[in-house]
Amino acid sequence: MSTFSAPKGTYDLIPPDSADYLAVREAIAAPLKRAGYGYIETPGFEQAALFARGVGESTDIVTKEMYTLTTKGGDELALRPEGTASVLRAALQANLHRGALPVKLWYSGSYYRYERPQAGRYRHFSQVGAEALGSEDPALDAELIILAVDAYRSLGLQNFRLLLNSLGDTECRPVYRAALQDFLRGLDLDEDTRQRIDINPLRVLDDKRDSVQQQLIGAPMMRDHLCEACKIYHEQVRELLIAAGVAFEDDPKLVRGLDYYTRTTFEFVHDGLGSQSAVGGGGRYDGLSEMIGGPALPSVGWALGVDRTVLALRAEGVTLELPSRTDVFAVPIGEEARRALFGVITELRRGGVAADFAYGGKGMKNAMKSANRSGARYALVLGERDLAEGVLQIKDLDSGEQTAVALDTAVAEVLAKLG
Ligand code: AMP
Repeated sequence: MSTFSAPKGTYDLIPPDSADYLAVREAIAAPLKRAGYGYIETPGFEQAALFARGVGESTDIVTKEMYTLTTKGGDELALRPEGTASVLRAALQANLHRGALPVKLWYSGSYYRYERPQAGRYRHFSQVGAEALGSEDPALDAELIILAVDAYRSLGLQNFRLLLNSLGDTECRPVYRAALQDFLRGLDLDEDTRQRIDINPLRVLDDKRDSVQQQLIGAPMMRDHLCEACKIYHEQVRELLIAAGVAFEDDPKLVRGLDYYTRTTFEFVHDGLGSQSAVGGGGRYDGLSEMIGGPALPSVGWALGVDRTVLALRAEGVTLELPSRTDVFAVPIGEEARRALFGVITELRRGGVAADFAYGGKGMKNAMKSANRSGARYALVLGERDLAEGVLQIKDLDSGEQTAVALDTAVAEVLAKLG
């Protein structure tokens, strides 16, 4: 061990476990690519004000959890706590919104929140996200939800549930907000929660404490206050999901921790994860562009947590079928054989074979041990005598059967065997 270890709330991804993370990222990205989403990558940090305005001054993410820093040049920056605000900022900066709409983008990366670490909650975590910018169309909301469900299914995940709600728009939400505030002011709540009534009353619905939840019985619900346009929109999203065979639960209390959501809001939860049960979530954010100084640009998106998806797979006992790390392992005996076999391995790799080599001048016994441990199907053994005879031994590591092939056709032979 060195003097240093990973900072609190963080962990390293190390083989073989790291392969699961890569596979999860790829599985989430695959349906997006097929649906016309283009890859976008933005910096790991942004002006802190982008998140303050975008995510919301009253959210925990901004008030308590942001890693902020002042640069030597005096800029106030923050490590990104989420992806949507950055992606929208980048799309506006590149004028993508002036081209064909919607602009469909996906991303994958690290995010940072100064949270209290616990199982499934880290200060550095990984998300894959998708955003569809510039269209108000229930089919887009449905498309994104279906793509997330297809990604989970392709991984073999089963015990996840989709919670769905509508948060209304600028017409009906303020009326509802006022009605909710009236109701909440009549309750017996602590000082912090009372303050929340003024700043962000919808978040009170999300309070996990029983004492609060009991008092919320009979609280006005957004779904009873939706304006006609929001009601119709939400019904269309629901119908498209049903037609696509996507099961969901209507959850009138689902509000989520970011301020920018309007209309469709959703969360994927997994029941095998304990208190940090959200594996992903998202929704429509029709007002966000204007909040960060852009034009009106109704949009929808989601982010799925890679760490928690891996935890959910483990909770279900799913093992991913990963491509083998090594198909062929080379065991040379002697200096000249080393040079010749290294050439064979290089050619095999260029031909697309996962191939490895006994480095460090190991003896035959140790080299064969490494070959077995690598998981390879074949060991390629080349000794001095083989070399003199112009042959190479291909050993099947399952059956132990060994066959000699001509050295100059060895690459073709191995390719054919693996075919
Ligand atoms: P959010 O950006 O808060 O909507 O989160 C989207 C998803 O990211 C969540 O459903 C989690 O799977 C994941 N996530 C958010 N915060 C954390 C965290 N602190 N540690 C691990 N995963 C997280």
